[in-house]
Amino acid sequence: MRREPVLGIDLGTTNTCAAHVRNKVPTVVSTDTGRLVLPSVIALNQRSDIVVGNVAKEQMVINPTKTIHGHKRFIGRPFNSPFVRHLAGKFGYDVVEGPDGQTAVSLGDRVVTLPEVSSLVLSHVRTVAQQHLDGSVREAVISVPAYYNDNQRAAVKRAGELAGLEVKRIINEPTAAALAYGFNRGFDQRVLVYDLGGGTFDVSVLELQGNVFQVVATGGDTFLGGVDFDDRIIGYVLETFQREYKIDLSDDAVVMQRVRNAAEAAKMDLSLLSNLVISLPYVAARKGRPLELRVSLSREELNELTSDLVDRTFQLCDEVLGTKGIDPSDIDEVILVGGQTRMPLVQERIHRHFGRPARKGVHPEECVALGAALLGDSLDQIDAVTLIDVLSMPIGIADSKGGFKKIIESNESIPCRRSFSVPPPLDDREYAELDVYQGGSDRIVDNEYLGTVRYPRGAQSMTFRLDEEGILGVSLEGDGHCKEITLATCGTPPSLRNAIEEDIIRRRQLAEQPEAQQDAGLFASIRRVLGRTSR
Ligand code: ADP
Ligand code: MG
Repeated sequence: MRREPVLGIDLGTTNTCAAHVRNKVPTVVSTDTGRLVLPSVIALNQRSDIVVGNVAKEQMVINPTKTIHGHKRFIGRPFNSPFVRHLAGKFGYDVVEGPDGQTAVSLGDRVVTLPEVSSLVLSHVRTVAQQHLDGSVREAVISVPAYYNDNQRAAVKRAGELAGLEVKRIINEPTAAALAYGFNRGFDQRVLVYDLGGGTFDVSVLELQGNVFQVVATGGDTFLGGVDFDDRIIGYVLETFQREYKIDLSDDAVVMQRVRNAAEAAKMDLSLLSNLVISLPYVAARKGRPLELRVSLSREELNELTSDLVDRTFQLCDEVLGTKGIDPSDIDEVILVGGQTRMPLVQERIHRHFGRPARKGVHPEECVALGAALLGDSLDQIDAVTLIDVLSMPIGIADSKGGFKKIIESNESIPCRRSFSVPPPLDDREYAELDVYQGGSDRIVDNEYLGTVRYPRGAQSMTFRLDEEGILGVSLEGDGHCKEITLATCGTPPSLRNAIEEDIIRRRQLAEQPEAQQDAGLFASIRRVLGRTSR
């Protein structure tokens, strides 16, 4: 008999949600303000106090440099990674290099690591849960995106520990969502988890057979989410205002934050209403008189502004299904995850694309936390659930020209192993080294560095092995012996240093080209990096 509940926590890019199981029923733990989700935002306020959640989000307009949001994008990533280099300038706060070359943020006069930032959110969640559940809460299952690599998972685990939690398991978000839908329901189905959150779109296909949950394919876009819908509204509002008053509001950071908040609120309201007026008093002044921004927006207009974003999600769904030769009509259920799936256009298009309405029943912002709580509750029961995953991003090695040679392909079922032959050390050297990377690009500079394998003369082949937890092991064969080795991670290996230098030269050349072309180049190179899974 369990005494203390295991918290299931969905530590989202935008919002965090926690749940627990009581008498076999998973329930969301409401936040300090009585809501069901907590903004994943922390801030150092004017009085130098750390604030978390709604309070932090609400003061963002006046305190942008000390309000940390979107930190989930940076956690567990080296400061040097292409992803971080691309994203760092897009936030009001300073993204800096922390200990061990990891990404950190600057807050007041301190450098704060990302596990520390996340731990503040988790700690808040834990405190509220303890009040709500009237007792101590020590154990947790925390969810992460399916494409998170070892470093990212370890960083989330560390965040949990810093918050005083024992992290019993890390679970992939789509798997958790599928558990919330199918746990103990005896299904034999193929489901698609369609997760459109605040900043990312993730799609996964799972096969459910009783309490065996097997991910068969996964994919998505780390730069497609609710904020892109907000941006379309913002663009429309600014343009309308400019047409009327010949004033460009985009230079005023405070006004822009107000416009951003109003745009998001309008978007959410249009999930229920068919039209509304966005109204913001005093956004500018003319001849000493305040000007009001008033723009009417209908659901139809919003649909027109954003329909290509929705189209893109279905392209991604088809790509993921295509990797396994599955037709959209072969999907038994579509499970909605993420607040943005509340948009009627998204639901209509899902119905059209898959020939069936999406599954409703569990709230899209809650199901990941509910699934994590269900896993937490079942951990002490033998064989209650079996989770089987796939690798979401290829793992491979660097070639001498900065190219990436895949050894294990994406969507390969885990556990798995792949062997390949290795060249002898150059000249009269005793050892040779191979740098191991993970990512979707053909160039190592766009992928994430995992570590370096050093092997002696006489080694003929190497085997990469992914165990049930998705942890990479390496062994060497040759000279009649077989040896297990571990990956050593060093700051920046020569293969990466050279590739980065070449990349900088390429970017300089690119900078001389027209802007549109540049953007396309950058976006093509900043694809989702890394993937790994958990059991
Ligand atoms: P994350 O997984 O990034 O933490 P969530 O699943 O909480 O995010 O989704 C947040 C996104 O959902 C935000 O962009 C928010 O504007 C959007 N959203 C929330 N409610 C609605 C709604 N009723 N209609 C449309 N979008 C919504
Ligand atoms: Mg989410």
